[in-house]
Amino acid sequence: MSYEIVIGLEVHLQLNTKSKVFCGCSTDFGSAPNSQACPVCLGFPGSLPVLNRKALELGAKVAIALNCRIAEKIRFDRKNYFYPDLPKDYQISQFNQPLAQAGALNIICGETEKNIRIRRVHLEEDTGKLFHQKDSSLIDFNRSGIPLLEIVSEPDMNSPEEAYLYLTALKSILEYIDVSDCNMEEGSLRCDANISLRKKGDTALGTKTEIKNMNSFKGVKAALEYEARRQADLLENGGRINQETRLYNAEKGVTEPMRSKEEAHDYRYFPEPDLAPFDFEESFLNAIEKDMPELPEPKKNRFVKDYQLSNYDAAIMASDKGVADYFEKCADLCDNPKTAANWLMGDISAYMKDNNISIKDLSLKPAQLSGMLKMIDSGIITGKVAKTLLIEIIQTGKDPEKLVKEKGLEQISDINLLEAAINQVIAENQKSAEDFRSGKDNAVMFLVGKVMQKTKGRANPNKVNEMLREKLKGVK
Ligand code: ADP
Ligand code: MG
Ligand code: ZN
Repeated sequence: MSYEIVIGLEVHLQLNTKSKVFCGCSTDFGSAPNSQACPVCLGFPGSLPVLNRKALELGAKVAIALNCRIAEKIRFDRKNYFYPDLPKDYQISQFNQPLAQAGALNIICGETEKNIRIRRVHLEEDTGKLFHQKDSSLIDFNRSGIPLLEIVSEPDMNSPEEAYLYLTALKSILEYIDVSDCNMEEGSLRCDANISLRKKGDTALGTKTEIKNMNSFKGVKAALEYEARRQADLLENGGRINQETRLYNAEKGVTEPMRSKEEAHDYRYFPEPDLAPFDFEESFLNAIEKDMPELPEPKKNRFVKDYQLSNYDAAIMASDKGVADYFEKCADLCDNPKTAANWLMGDISAYMKDNNISIKDLSLKPAQLSGMLKMIDSGIITGKVAKTLLIEIIQTGKDPEKLVKEKGLEQISDINLLEAAINQVIAENQKSAEDFRSGKDNAVMFLVGKVMQKTKGRANPNKVNEMLREKLKGVK
């Protein structure tokens, strides 16, 4: 394609405060409709907003984690528009002077890192939620006034894949600092994707469309892939892009026009008179900085340095805080960080996927995993046995050492026992033995597999390999 894709993302994040951003109503999810709505939520005349300190604190935490410059003064503005989910007819938001600006985060695309700039981070309130029925619509105001943080990137991404990586990296940071559930399916994280094309080499931005209504990161990627193709086809055929908002239709896998794009002046922004501007106290920000945990990127770098993991493995180990803590405990207990990482990325990750659980629900303790890894390292059990042992440890909760003794799973290195199994296997698989003798080196692997089967995975595979070769060559 002779076009370059340009993407900028707007992410709305529900901050997990106990009460709403401008009133004391609860933010609990799933309560009876309209049971958490007061005159402020409902926009009654004369009701007054009061800023929730915790919401401001969580917003500032995000801004610091994203390396933003934080505003000296906090101000709010009214964004005016009419919609049934917004009875005040305006949303309290921030316009000219957002909470924070000019941040950045790194994404890893294959072997290279790319810096994606964050344009702004601002605080605003959520709206009510509409439920459209056949002949009527219902509205629940429990959601109105839940604190939202809008995180707007610069148009620095050049493929749907990069947009996906940005969202993944952002979510990882947000989860580390524990500011939101970050659940796209449940709507606590929402993403609008802006995309345009331009001729390769051009510096001016092309006309963009904004896509809404995706409910997973994969959905964002798929919607952007569709939209990039749609725009390219249009441009190839001499058409022009209409600046508009489009909805992603996940069932059909297409984007459909929703409305022509509104401009900032349509909203008649003006300063919110009910919330006086104020300065951040230095101690407020200092306390947040002091409490900031180690973030995914520095953690990844430390894993490379301290545990000699590859960049790739370290990034996976550091991307989720639960996994990172788990990995670090194992690595310290078993002196073999690389193996611990391999098991976490391999069998354990597969187990969690199969059972639809996350690491915090995993009953396998780091000490049990490291106990098992130590037994592999010291040759007490084979890697093959460990695979089934792992599941048994999880299911029974027993210590690996105990289980190995109970079930007699120790590795067999006894020459006589191995020789007996090998003789049997050769007798039963004459064809493969012949193949090996006539030069097919691979045939030996098949025979090793058979010996492993016969010994229920307990035979020392290296020894078996060695003995089989000698035997087949007639050395012994
Ligand atoms: P709007 O006022 O339409 O919301 P903004 O300029 O505020 O537009 O940008 C919103 C988002 O769209 C930002 O993430 C920005 O990076 C992105 N963006 C702006 N212009 C383009 C463009 N031409 N192509 C792709 N993304 C863009
Ligand atoms: Mg926008
Ligand atoms: Zn309220």
